Amino acid sequence: MIGKWTRFLPRKRKADVDRAVRYIVSSAYKNVPFYRRIYDLASVDPASIRGAEDLPRLPIVSRLDLMVGGPAAYLHRNISPGKLTIKHTTGTTGTPVIVHMNKREEAFRKITILDAFQRNGRLTCPLTIIDVGGEVKDSATQIEQRIGPVRIIRLFRTMPMEQQIDVLTHSRPALINGRPSALWQLANALLEKRIDPPTPSVINTGAEMLFDNVRELLQNVFGCRVADNYNCEEVGNTAWQCPSHTGRMHPNMATVWIETVDQQGNPVPAGSEGRLLVTNIYNSSMPFIRYETGDRGTLMQSGHCQCGFNGPVMRLMEGRNENFIVLPDGREITPRLMYEVINSAFPHDDPRWNMIDAIRMFQIIQEAKDLIVVKVVPGPAYSESLWRAVEENLKRLHPAMFLKVEIVNDLRPEPGKKFHQVLGKLNSRWRRERENQSDK
Ligand SMILES: [Zn+2]
Repeated sequence: MIGKWTRFLPRKRKADVDRAVRYIVSSAYKNVPFYRRIYDLASVDPASIRGAEDLPRLPIVSRLDLMVGGPAAYLHRNISPGKLTIKHTTGTTGTPVIVHMNKREEAFRKITILDAFQRNGRLTCPLTIIDVGGEVKDSATQIEQRIGPVRIIRLFRTMPMEQQIDVLTHSRPALINGRPSALWQLANALLEKRIDPPTPSVINTGAEMLFDNVRELLQNVFGCRVADNYNCEEVGNTAWQCPSHTGRMHPNMATVWIETVDQQGNPVPAGSEGRLLVTNIYNSSMPFIRYETGDRGTLMQSGHCQCGFNGPVMRLMEGRNENFIVLPDGREITPRLMYEVINSAFPHDDPRWNMIDAIRMFQIIQEAKDLIVVKVVPGPAYSESLWRAVEENLKRLHPAMFLKVEIVNDLRPEPGKKFHQVLGKLNSRWRRERENQSDK
């Protein structure tokens, strides 16, 4: 079938993208009950989708719509879920999403992430990568992991800062990778302790907005360039920073086709801001087709760029900017760590546990130094008892902290507004520096 293998080409021309789109859409219609249902309901013939430009004929998919049917609805019917790799999104729209992929799709996803790094830094083998601010989960539980000539060293977000610095200064990374908030914290600690870290070829950031003050701090402390990426669990690398223009990104044509639509779901013209939809063009085990990411952005006129790339150009708007959480003793932790404190208390290892059945959406709000409020839209399997373990985790973070749970009907933000999974209302250093930045 055309496109079955094209989807694994690491550098795709537009014709390859079209072939992969065709394959993903027709395979989803044939094999994935969720897509068969919604395409039948919308009376669209998947055979009429000949390439990326035809995608607007298909309905838009929200996280909640995709997840509520469970794996039986959203997975390829010939694949046993036990054979698939599972990734949990770390929460950006409040609705938890589980991403499934087979071994080949997972390997391809890794290759394309490395290839995106390659766009902004010269990487040679053997290659040491330091990954900052990740969590202990999935297969990534070891500090050090070797995959062929690639050595990955993980500075988990739960590791004490002294240990992170110790591991960092004893390695020679070609690449440092992480969320801006986690890298900002590490760079500040290095600066305060007057420690010179090793200089990588490039620092890659992703998953949150990279603000100018953070970019400058990282460049100064590590003495290298900083390249931003647009990554999400549903796709992997979605776009990489143009090496010639700091504010521009190039959608990763190996992994994804990106569209922008307005409030009503109609395509917006090049140069106008809109809601971002992604179509994953390699994962047929769990297809994401015209899937709403919750992010906003602008697609510009495609073409030859100064950096040498010939293809789409975009700008990411209003991305994830979440404030730090301030603990009663004055320590500040990243919003991701706060998310993890709550999320890791849920029984994810229990095979009977289905997150979306218990919790449709939730939001974590720091109202006061000692008070965390969790707003929750319950699902049919919701139970109050879920919060006991969460409370214990919170007390472990700091014994003076309290949890308050509020049941709500909806958490979706107003049109055009960005949802904050973690909403820190206190005046953290992160926020103060941001505000100084915008005063300038
Ligand atoms: Zn470029």
